Amino acid sequence: MTEDKKNVIRRLKTARDLGKFMADYYYELDAAAKKGRPKVAWCTSVGPAEILRGLGFLTYFPETHSAMLGTSRMATDLIPKANAMGYSPDICSYLTADIGAFVAEVTPLSKVFPGIDSVPRPDVLVFNTNQCRDVQDWFAWYAEKYDVPLVGVHTYRGVLDVTPDHITSITRQMENIVEPLEKVAGRKLDMDELRQAVTLSRECSDLWEQCLAAAAAIPSPLTFFDGTTLMGPAVVGRGTQKAIDAYKLLLEELEERVENGIGALEDERFRIYWEGMPVWGRLSMHSKLFAGLKANVIASTYCSSWVFSALDPQDPFGSMARAYTELFIVRSDEYKEAYIKDKLKFFSIDGIVYHDAKTCPYNSNCRYGMPQRLEAETGIPSLTINGDLNDLRLLSDEQTRTNVEAFIEQLEENK
Ligand code: SF4
Repeated sequence: MTEDKKNVIRRLKTARDLGKFMADYYYELDAAAKKGRPKVAWCTSVGPAEILRGLGFLTYFPETHSAMLGTSRMATDLIPKANAMGYSPDICSYLTADIGAFVAEVTPLSKVFPGIDSVPRPDVLVFNTNQCRDVQDWFAWYAEKYDVPLVGVHTYRGVLDVTPDHITSITRQMENIVEPLEKVAGRKLDMDELRQAVTLSRECSDLWEQCLAAAAAIPSPLTFFDGTTLMGPAVVGRGTQKAIDAYKLLLEELEERVENGIGALEDERFRIYWEGMPVWGRLSMHSKLFAGLKANVIASTYCSSWVFSALDPQDPFGSMARAYTELFIVRSDEYKEAYIKDKLKFFSIDGIVYHDAKTCPYNSNCRYGMPQRLEAETGIPSLTINGDLNDLRLLSDEQTRTNVEAFIEQLEENK
């Protein structure tokens, strides 16, 4: 295997604080699940977390657990256990890895956080199909296992313009899940608490958006690979003050870097946009591969998926409906292309890398001619990497390396 060339990757000091944030989050959930209070709700990563916070639930996100199964490289061995139960190797490898881990009674949480033996037992499961149908099947499996209620929001797909009809329908669905949730919570939803959760979520979203936007500086103070772990509070902590405090510190550090012209890479010659999911079991390898070629992967659609600018405490249900429908993953190719074009300009991008994740068609936007259309319109070249978010059998490291090296050479010729 070819050695990576050297380039200094500067780690962010705040990343350590965010590690503590995640530890506190999982220990709090673990204690609640053991004591039976506060009640624990499992939620999809872009599900209506604010309603759950408003009802006093602690909220656990199985996708984050699955990403940990990926980064710890446990996933590949666990996926076949779910396949053997009838869940195809072609469907979401978050689902198959997570169910595989449950069946095998293992979790990376116990390795990272001593004292935690299992994922926190849910009192209720809440999904939103805005990202895909797989989450509904995934949660339905756990609802049966744990014998707890399952509620969800069924959303639209391929949306060009978000219309009042979309918003009305999703608003109603969100309102309708309140009653079954109140039964589990054993209390009524207090609208002031809901408004407070929406306020905190919006502030968290705005700060996270500003952190990501800092990467527009040249050199960029941030890499996509940092972003995939730094986004933890936006995913699991939105609706809490702690997430806001964490991002204030991160933003300060990023702004300080920008002010002093300090990049995340010592030598940044190329600026890359990442379209698609990360390969969780190859974060470090990919980070070093690109850095060694003086290519900074500075921005992505993925990390921006937890920006919910429509949230408004004056209209909690309506604005949640809008925020969770306006998402990139819900939209048509026409919308997505316009969105990516904006980002290419904003971040001064030299090239795009599409990750065609075998088991997630929803986050693989390179299958219907988008790379070719965008390249024709913008002149910005792209590369498609075949791989997967969690199943390492579906990628070839050698092939990735060879293709990335050739792509960066092509960018060099274009300079
Ligand atoms: S969006 Fe993709 S990765 Fe996420 S849960 Fe759905 S299929 Fe899995």
